[in-house]
Amino acid sequence: MKFIYRLFLPIALTLILYLHSQAMSVEIQPKEVLPGDVFLLKVYTDKNPSANPGSPQAEFAGREMAFFQTADNHFIALIPVDIETPPKKYPITIASGEEARTVYLRVKRYKFPTQRITLPEEKVILSPEDLKRAGKEAGLMKSVLSQITMREWDGRFAVPTGTAISEVFGVKRVMNGKKTSVHCGIDYKGQTGTPVRAVNSGKVVLREELFFGGNTVVIDHGTGLFSVYMHLSGFHVAKDEKVSKGQMIGLVGMSGRATGPHLHFGFNLQGVKVNPLSIFKLEL
Ligand SMILES: [Zn+2]
Repeated sequence: MKFIYRLFLPIALTLILYLHSQAMSVEIQPKEVLPGDVFLLKVYTDKNPSANPGSPQAEFAGREMAFFQTADNHFIALIPVDIETPPKKYPITIASGEEARTVYLRVKRYKFPTQRITLPEEKVILSPEDLKRAGKEAGLMKSVLSQITMREWDGRFAVPTGTAISEVFGVKRVMNGKKTSVHCGIDYKGQTGTPVRAVNSGKVVLREELFFGGNTVVIDHGTGLFSVYMHLSGFHVAKDEKVSKGQMIGLVGMSGRATGPHLHFGFNLQGVKVNPLSIFKLEL
């Protein structure tokens, strides 16, 4: 009997330790990002469903990650990297029950382009009424984008229109020598009337004519992710309507503050404006 213990106990312990170390795995995609990008964590927590440790926990840049379950013991989180995030290699520790894993994300240094615009001052300064309206609409937009609902998106994200990009994400605008804003979306070229399509499934949570954005549609994809479509010439959806990926939601136009017909498209993830190209690239 003693012999059996001597032989099997170390084997059993090794096996337990091995299984334990295999219980949780973490995949990060991609491993390197630019400020303003999104990254993805896929976590597999345990092979034994009876030891269900629940949702994993992790944080990045002082913010708790919102994991959601895709299958038994499979969790996923989309995490925004704010455009102001300092470049360096960040350790990210993911905890689940008694276990923890650390993965690394490198935020690369990147100098976003600057666009200098000169306009007569009277065209730049807003009237008190316009300022009031724009302020009110910014508040409305902020409250719409602060909701976190159940996941509606499924699979990879599609582009909203097939036309070329005329202005990239992150361009710093300097108007009459003063830094005014950062272009937190991408502009697609397009003639008035070009169809604009939902980039994934979701629900229309805003359909309004705004001072800056003109005719604007916001789709809530769930998990704190929203897509924003601006300067439309027409709406093809109603507020609160459920939409599917590829569904036509409006037409390219130049409503609001636009100098020509184009689609301004943006993503907002958990209150952070992120580079749409980084989301289109994700293998989901
Ligand atoms: Zn734009």
